[in-house]
Amino acid sequence: MEYLQKIEDVTMDRRTFLKVASTVGASAFLGSYHVDIAKAILASDRNIIWLNGAGCTGCTISFLNAEEPDVIQAVTQLDVMIRHQETVMFQQGLFVDGQPVTNAALNANFAMEQFLDSGEPFILVVEGGVPLGPDGTGNYLRIAGKPFVDDVRHIAEKALMTIAVGTCASYGGMPAAEPNPTDVVGLQFSGTKKGGALGADYRSKAGLPVINIPGCPAHPDWILLTLSAAILDKIPADFLDEYQRPKPFFPSGHTVHENCPRRGFYDQGKLDGEYANGNCLWKLGCRGMISHSDCALRLWNDKQNMCTQAGAPCVGCVEPTFPEGRFVDEIEGIPSLAGVNVGTAAKVAIGAAGVGIAAHAGHKIISKEE
Ligand code: SF4
Ligand code: SF4
Repeated sequence: MEYLQKIEDVTMDRRTFLKVASTVGASAFLGSYHVDIAKAILASDRNIIWLNGAGCTGCTISFLNAEEPDVIQAVTQLDVMIRHQETVMFQQGLFVDGQPVTNAALNANFAMEQFLDSGEPFILVVEGGVPLGPDGTGNYLRIAGKPFVDDVRHIAEKALMTIAVGTCASYGGMPAAEPNPTDVVGLQFSGTKKGGALGADYRSKAGLPVINIPGCPAHPDWILLTLSAAILDKIPADFLDEYQRPKPFFPSGHTVHENCPRRGFYDQGKLDGEYANGNCLWKLGCRGMISHSDCALRLWNDKQNMCTQAGAPCVGCVEPTFPEGRFVDEIEGIPSLAGVNVGTAAKVAIGAAGVGIAAHAGHKIISKEE
């Protein structure tokens, strides 16, 4: 592949990337490897088009909240040209002599079309879900006079790689919450079902399926490091799990529960029935047991905190089943916990209260299946 030949002089191999990406934050990674990354990008003219669909733009905000490095440092270190970002560049269109041409016809979409016509390679980032309704027309979300779904399909066809940022773009997420009146789907999934807006067989020009970086919002490290991996072409098929998430940040055999700062309370059976008591939040609907992310190790907001540490149950926002039920539902009201081995949970929760709750949850789940 031409692209691979262009960056074959990059010194960091895949094994090193995986090791580094799974153990350090974006800052250390970019600091250590920015020369390699810059070389790769210089060799490949890396461009990014970032589209926003049905979402809250929280993932853009999360990305902009990156601390070390911040987005300006990251873009400079990565030497990336962001060609289009609907939230940040809202009305920005063509520039002449360094000044924006304030003409509605020469807006950001016009500039993007000009870029697409150039045939230069680019990475497509999509934030937000893709409404297919009504009746498959996609007219519930029209941008610049066109259904968003048409734009996504048209641009994804030309993209070197396509990355879904956030759970909306990955699986449908919040805008696809029941009863999903606008028929929102993710790029290549609808919940746990493969397909989505681009179809199960979609492959980018680099031969890859959509790379999903879920989270509501996605962690800035996950976005930066995955973009870095994409730029370095270090995303082989086995980099992704069954829901196409990069395994270093969404490890299949690891859940938030394992490293949760409240885990000691769970093990002692100290399960809170109301907020603000400082114990385990399982009984309050915590989905930490089914959430495959490194939140409890990586932490958020410049490594300060994470949901359960701050007193909020994990809502399982990185899972394709998100959002299911109400966030305040007690644990037995959450269907995907039917997949958790309640017997194991009960053994781990050595306190009498824990065993009682686990048995109660098991009973309710079994009752539902009957
Ligand atoms: S994934 Fe969550 S934070 Fe990101 S755009 Fe969608 S609703 Fe907003
Ligand atoms: S159930 Fe939730 S709050 Fe309790 S230890 Fe597990 S992840 Fe932490």
